[in-house]
Amino acid sequence: MLDYSRKSVKDRIEIELRGRVDEHAASSLGELARALAGGEAPVGIDCGGITGINSAGVEIWARFLGPLSRERVVELSRCPVALIEYANMTELVLADAEVTSVFFPLQCAACHVSSEILVGVADLGADGRLVVPNCSQCGRPLEREVEEESYFAFLEFRDGAD
Ligand SMILES: [Zn+2]
Repeated sequence: MLDYSRKSVKDRIEIELRGRVDEHAASSLGELARALAGGEAPVGIDCGGITGINSAGVEIWARFLGPLSRERVVELSRCPVALIEYANMTELVLADAEVTSVFFPLQCAACHVSSEILVGVADLGADGRLVVPNCSQCGRPLEREVEEESYFAFLEFRDGAD
């Protein structure tokens, strides 16, 4: 079940998504697309509340975001790892939307704990490397669960598309 909230903040529309993007997401994303149709204001979509995505959901997502991001400015923030993994498989997932921030998966080998940090795309260094924090429990450096080069591949797609 995917829920959303929508509000106008100054001249932008801010949307928050909560729940799973799966085969049941068609009704809420369809409703949202109809509500947004014909407008011009930039749209910000907070994806941080998305709890899971599957391949059926990604198709529905692409049908929602594709037309929307071609007709107006769309910014995606707090993108969950699962969304970025799909985005790295096909550029249809992000379409023409701009990604402003994503979660990045880390783990502590000593504590066997996984965690995620929020990374602003604009804050990535020129080499695309992250500054990885230490484990909050044991103080050792956390380890990346994925390499930046592959995780941020979606940014390269976008450069190529422009
Ligand atoms: Zn630790």
